[in-house]
Amino acid sequence: MEILNNRKQENEHITEICKDIYRIQIPLNGSSLGTINSYVIRGADRSLLIDTGYRAEPCIETIRSSLSLLGVRPEKTDILLTHFHNDHSGAATDLIHPWRKIYVPAQEYQFFGIGDDPKVYTESRRPRYLKEGLSDEEFEKMMYITLPGSKGPDFFAGQFSPVDDRQTFAAGEYTLTAIHTPGHTPGHMCYWDEAHGLMFTGDHILFDISPNIIPWPGIPNILGLYLYSLQKLQNYPAAIALPGHRQPGSLSARIDEQIRHHKQRLNECESLVKLYPDKTALEITRLLSWKIRRPRGTRGIPLPLLRYAFGECLCHLDYLRFQKKIEQTFSGGFYRYR
Ligand SMILES: [Zn+2]
Repeated sequence: MEILNNRKQENEHITEICKDIYRIQIPLNGSSLGTINSYVIRGADRSLLIDTGYRAEPCIETIRSSLSLLGVRPEKTDILLTHFHNDHSGAATDLIHPWRKIYVPAQEYQFFGIGDDPKVYTESRRPRYLKEGLSDEEFEKMMYITLPGSKGPDFFAGQFSPVDDRQTFAAGEYTLTAIHTPGHTPGHMCYWDEAHGLMFTGDHILFDISPNIIPWPGIPNILGLYLYSLQKLQNYPAAIALPGHRQPGSLSARIDEQIRHHKQRLNECESLVKLYPDKTALEITRLLSWKIRRPRGTRGIPLPLLRYAFGECLCHLDYLRFQKKIEQTFSGGFYRYR
């Protein structure tokens, strides 16, 4: 199959990937990610749109005008979501035609009802985060200052349908199979076209940035699930991986890199815990090495980044605890590790 990477088409947002498959790069105002990739699979009877951007006018307008340029008709287009995050799902109910469906990962159906209020899932983390070393004030600053002003889709508009692992979706000459890949979020789905070797990876696999992995209340070892999901995708002979942000790349090579990255991080965490016993997760986060671009003259981890660094550190500590390599104790009002 001929893959036509980076051949710009029709407007500045559209790139033709291969016959009848296009990437639309949607600007994400207010997000450090810059843009999100939406993918269109064009078929005569049915088209599919994978992920949508924020529920905000610039995103909605970019997709509408791009679909129109590509001759993709809303009344023949279903929307497939990789996961519930607002940058992937927000515009879905604004874009969907009343006759069509929005397919959402079955395990994330519950999150769509609260999509307008990111506070609900942010607050579910507060009890643990306060015991892992953060003060109330630090939690507020870290979790709320950086929330982009985005909204989830309007769940009560209906038209949502759950996607199960292995469910298939046909459009034109392509047939996508949903692959459950928990880790970045609990229900995350990748979509695989076997005949053409295309893997739509959402935020499970990204190139030049690492997917954010943070603890989920009720899931004891989310990093373990993420590593399992990475290994699961190694079995697919993909010609190309099409990620939710930035540029495409080689699936297999990127999986190897990501597994290596997390193994190194696990080793570093374990060494620090042994070297400095009884530290809190927040203290361990500050001891870990981070590649960070800091404003001149500042030290430490800037607050917007601390949120991701702290979450990542917690997941690695959970994994090590699960493997019985370290222990968690509780003293002075905080969990500590040894
Ligand atoms: Zn995401």
